[in-house]
Amino acid sequence: MDAIIDYFSRLEHLPLHRGAYLFGGLFFFFLIENTLPLFKASYNKTKHSGLNIFFTLTTIVINFAMAFILAWAAVFVEANNFGILNWMGASILICMTLGLLLMDFIGAWLAHYIEHHVTWMWQFHVIHHTDQNVDTTTGNRHHPGESVIRFLFTVIAVLIVGPPLWLVFMYQTISVILTQFNHSNVKMPSWLDAGLRLVICTPNMHRVHHHYRQPYSDSNYGNIFSFWDRIFGTYVVADNSKLIYGVDTYMDKEITEDIVALLKLPFQGHKEHITYKEDENL
Ligand SMILES: [Zn+2]
Repeated sequence: MDAIIDYFSRLEHLPLHRGAYLFGGLFFFFLIENTLPLFKASYNKTKHSGLNIFFTLTTIVINFAMAFILAWAAVFVEANNFGILNWMGASILICMTLGLLLMDFIGAWLAHYIEHHVTWMWQFHVIHHTDQNVDTTTGNRHHPGESVIRFLFTVIAVLIVGPPLWLVFMYQTISVILTQFNHSNVKMPSWLDAGLRLVICTPNMHRVHHHYRQPYSDSNYGNIFSFWDRIFGTYVVADNSKLIYGVDTYMDKEITEDIVALLKLPFQGHKEHITYKEDENL
């Protein structure tokens, strides 16, 4: 335990190591999904990965540029004994477990749920959903505006939860790896999926969120833990082989495969979903 805390406390190596996790994770899941794919690739993988890695890089730049705000928040809560974990005076083990759970709830599940229900936030988040070939590179396909929104939710989560700085970095590392995992195009045996999804969000679970129509796209918001969707009634099981990726409002590949068009998308007004709530049963 001390070694884990020590590792995530040593700020000087963290930017380099986190970059290594991000690209190492991408490479790892890329290998797995190409060995055991759920859907066979019938698209230009290089072009697809290039676009998604562009949006991953903008996410990294934004998170790096604003990291001092996150560090300030963690130092603030510790110095002022502020936030749930500090008020509880939790032991290290409880602090780590509860801290990861609550950071995932506020910083990821709640942030994601709100992005789907607040129109101007959805206009940024929709870029993530426009991918018609979901794979591990989709995980960090975020418009720069969404990266800022998500970053601010993480800061709010720190102020509410009150985690020490090492736990913030630990959470962010696990969060990136789980995002890459649950977007990967890997075919997983059902016994393994059933076991894992009791605790974490598996690819079979998260893919349903990338179906192009509601109500499926408004389900399974989770990133690390699967509990939140079960608790808040947004947990949905669907046959993955019937999924069609994308979002009903933007299926035109001239937009969904063009970086400039995607960057402009949030500023071009809101498009209502074309919902087919009754006529589809996956
Ligand atoms: Zn979403």
